[in-house]
Amino acid sequence: MPPKRTRSARIYRDTPRNLARLAAALRRGELVAVPTETVYGLAANALDAVACGKIFTAKGRPASDPLIVHIGHWRELAAVAVPNDAALRLAQEFWPGPLTIVLPKRPAVPGIVSAGLDSVAVRLPSHPLFRRLQRLAGIPLAAPSANPFGYVSPTTAQHVRDGLGKQIAHILDGGPTTIGLESTIVDLRDPRHPRLLRPGAVTRAQLAQALGCAVADGTKRKTVEHAAQLAPGMLSRHYSPRTPVELHAPLAPVRARLSGPDEAWLFFAQPRDVAGKNIFALSEHGDLRAAAKRLFGILRQLDDAGYTRIHAELAPGGGLADAINDRLRRAASRR
Ligand code: AMP
Ligand code: MG
Repeated sequence: MPPKRTRSARIYRDTPRNLARLAAALRRGELVAVPTETVYGLAANALDAVACGKIFTAKGRPASDPLIVHIGHWRELAAVAVPNDAALRLAQEFWPGPLTIVLPKRPAVPGIVSAGLDSVAVRLPSHPLFRRLQRLAGIPLAAPSANPFGYVSPTTAQHVRDGLGKQIAHILDGGPTTIGLESTIVDLRDPRHPRLLRPGAVTRAQLAQALGCAVADGTKRKTVEHAAQLAPGMLSRHYSPRTPVELHAPLAPVRARLSGPDEAWLFFAQPRDVAGKNIFALSEHGDLRAAAKRLFGILRQLDDAGYTRIHAELAPGGGLADAINDRLRRAASRR
């Protein structure tokens, strides 16, 4: 167990004074939980091995699980990774934004960040507050999701405090995250063979179109032989609520066998023909973006509500639905 602090983390509003304070804390090697457009991250100076070590302690995260390095500007990419043409093309198309690119690592990035791998995962987030903080700090920031290892990722500052309030001191409040799912991860170590490692808001089809070639689906369980090493976000026990989650195919005839009030039903879109205190929907009208944004918050809400089981309907279609269903499957996989 990580050491507990006696006081709970402070949530900072985005005043210039607070941003300057938090940037100084990052430069001193302290941890700061930060908003991004995907989920909240737990940030430390990516070039400081001791600072990054604190991330693993606070989250209870195994050292075999590498961190994503967040940069504030294009120029910083070559300082942490060895870019290739394919990476530059994707960066041009999707940065700033929810895309993480795995590339050969520069020696400046300490081994603790990459879990000893010779590759590093890099992203340039678009969240304006994150970017302001990073500009002030002037350093690349290693940041995994700001939750205890294995639990649902945080999409609000309060989620961060609920999970890590006793482990960390600083949380910057940027409001609810707009995307709500962790970034897409693409492996471009070999630019001729791009591989999707984690689905997210940037879809595999979008990547293929930007690259002008096929992008292999590296997320299938069979192909992730050394998942723990290459992309631990792929470990199925990630993102699980405590309550057992049971999945249902889209529009499956589940309504006929809706269970008692101690089990929650999470539909993709608001059902017209059933209602009840235990009936929930990811989105009002079945909008994928709205559903993605809402997913982690509602899983937390249902987890805290004491239901004995959460039944969840998978999202229909591909693209962003793939990313939503990926997180639902992880939530449903037993620890
Ligand atoms: P989290 O934000 O908590 O999901 O953690 C960051 C994720 O980035 C990890 O779980 C990995 O999936 C991924 N990652 C970080 N570094 C690498 C790398 N060198 N190769 C592949 N995936 C990586
Ligand atoms: Mg995580």
